[in-house]
Amino acid sequence: MLLTRRLKVIVTLAILSTPLFPRLACSQDSSTPDSRVESELAAMGKRGAVIARARDQVLTILQEENACTAWFRQADPDPAGVFQSLHYEIGSGKPAYIFRMADGRGEQFFKQPWAARTTENGGPNSTVELNANGPFFNYISPVMEVRPGGIPVRPAGLQRLAIASFRGETNEAQMTALLHELGHIIGRLPEDDDSWDGRSSRNTAEVLRHCKDEIRRKAKGSSQRTD
Ligand SMILES: [Zn+2]
Repeated sequence: MLLTRRLKVIVTLAILSTPLFPRLACSQDSSTPDSRVESELAAMGKRGAVIARARDQVLTILQEENACTAWFRQADPDPAGVFQSLHYEIGSGKPAYIFRMADGRGEQFFKQPWAARTTENGGPNSTVELNANGPFFNYISPVMEVRPGGIPVRPAGLQRLAIASFRGETNEAQMTALLHELGHIIGRLPEDDDSWDGRSSRNTAEVLRHCKDEIRRKAKGSSQRTD
């Protein structure tokens, strides 16, 4: 009986301590997880600085009580903590075109280069990959006309990039992209992919339904500080 109880206690402790263990293991050196992410970003040069600014802004949104934080909390009790643990990579040589495709009736469809991607339900310490050619870092992109099936036909000028109603490369677009990826990482948003079906746009619309006011407020605050 005693043995059983002791085993139960050990098992319970083991279960309780499992989520803590990676953090304890990681905190053996003197740097905090946050300062490690910051130094990773500092090593990425100008683009790292762009990510760091948007990351700071998103972090302050998630550390405050607001509709955006409350929405993320429905999927994870500590969205700010998960967000703070994330790592970043910049992918180059990724889709660098806006693809334009006409269907048989002359209607045109566009597909932008993706902004960011990550792992669905990846949890703390996931990596967010940002496309060097996407709307996180650029406001304009070359257009490539493609045939149904994705076969490139010819270049077709330049067009603006955007994330929902925010122009590419703006502070608002960058915060939206990071919040969208957090949505995947904690399973707040369903999986989407780089297809023509608009699922990614619907996910972005869902993020903005809850977070647009906070995003606008932060972007306004930052331009007031820097102007
Ligand atoms: Zn997505």
